[in-house]
Amino acid sequence: MASIFSKIVNGEIPSYKIAEDNNYYAFLDINPLAKGHTLVIPKKEVDYIFDIDDILLGGIMIFAKKVAHAIEKVTPCKRIGIAVLGLEVPHAHIHLVPINGANDIDFSKPKLKLSAEEFNEITAKIKEAFQTV
Ligand code: AMP
Repeated sequence: MASIFSKIVNGEIPSYKIAEDNNYYAFLDINPLAKGHTLVIPKKEVDYIFDIDDILLGGIMIFAKKVAHAIEKVTPCKRIGIAVLGLEVPHAHIHLVPINGANDIDFSKPKLKLSAEEFNEITAKIKEAFQTV
C-alpha cells in the first residue's frame, strides 16, 4: 500500500506544498515544532533513509539546502535544524526546523497548533522565497 507521503506526492491527500522537482517534494509538517517546519522527501517510496541509493540520497540534501535557505529568508531563526527520525511514517523524510537553540528541535515537545490560514500564509512566503534562492 502506498505511504501517506506517496499519496501526498500523487495529489490524493492535500499538503501545504513548498516545492517539488522530478525526484523530491517538500511540504509543511502538519504537527510543526516551529512555524516553517518542513519535510523533504524523495518521491520514490523508500522507508529507511539509509536504504536510498547514493545518487538520490546525495540529491535530497541539495534539494533540502535550497528549501532550508527559503525557510530562513522568511522565518526569524538562527538557523535551520535538520533531523531524520522516520519512526511514524515509513517513507524517508528530512525534517527542516527553524531553530534558535537545541530545545527548538526536541521532538518530545508539544507541537504547534496552527490554523489553515497560518499554514497557507507560511507556505506562500516560503514558496515565494524558494523562487529566488
Ligand atoms: P517521523 O516519521 O517520526 O519523522 O514523523 C513523521 C512526521 O510526519 C511527523 O512530524 C508528522 O507530523 C508528519 N506528518 C504525518 N502525516 C502528515 C501529513 N499528512 N502532512 C504533513 N505532515 C505529516
